Amino acid sequence: MVSEMINTELVIPTLNPIFAQRNSFRAMSDYPELWELLDSVYDPELPGLTLWDLGVLQDIQVDEQQVLVIITPTYSGCPAVDMMSQDVITALNAANYDDVRVKVTLAPAWCTDMISPAGKQQLANLHIAPPNKDDDPDCPVCHSKNTQLLSQFGSTACKALYTCQDCLETFDYFKTL
Ligand SMILES: [Zn+2]
Repeated sequence: MVSEMINTELVIPTLNPIFAQRNSFRAMSDYPELWELLDSVYDPELPGLTLWDLGVLQDIQVDEQQVLVIITPTYSGCPAVDMMSQDVITALNAANYDDVRVKVTLAPAWCTDMISPAGKQQLANLHIAPPNKDDDPDCPVCHSKNTQLLSQFGSTACKALYTCQDCLETFDYFKTL
């Protein structure tokens, strides 16, 4: 399909290299139906962001009848990992994959470049900045670096409340702990 090829060439260079790598890794998987099933699994704390969009879902392998799903949590110390694992198992069980194991790996470490473009858009909609190494968040709405801490505690204990000096929006920032 010619139109699809042209489209891909236009889109790929605009992706950051880390997400582009994730994207092509997923595209080469032998189990596209499993990736699609897991597109229905959302981060328990970020409405509208799937584990894929957030960059948490890293790999899906199948050995005999067992499905192995590999996830990498964000820096956040929120106890979301257990919930994510359970949601992955529930989603696959519902599609008759009965033997599912979730492995949590910290290497390579999660980073914000793993977030999909759709995920970044949704974070902006939610006014949430993802965790970053230096605890120095950019504004998720206008991407300004000119941000200021308002309160150590945002909408939950693991988030802090910031304001953007440029667009004047307030936003939640996921603390790295
Ligand atoms: Zn801003």
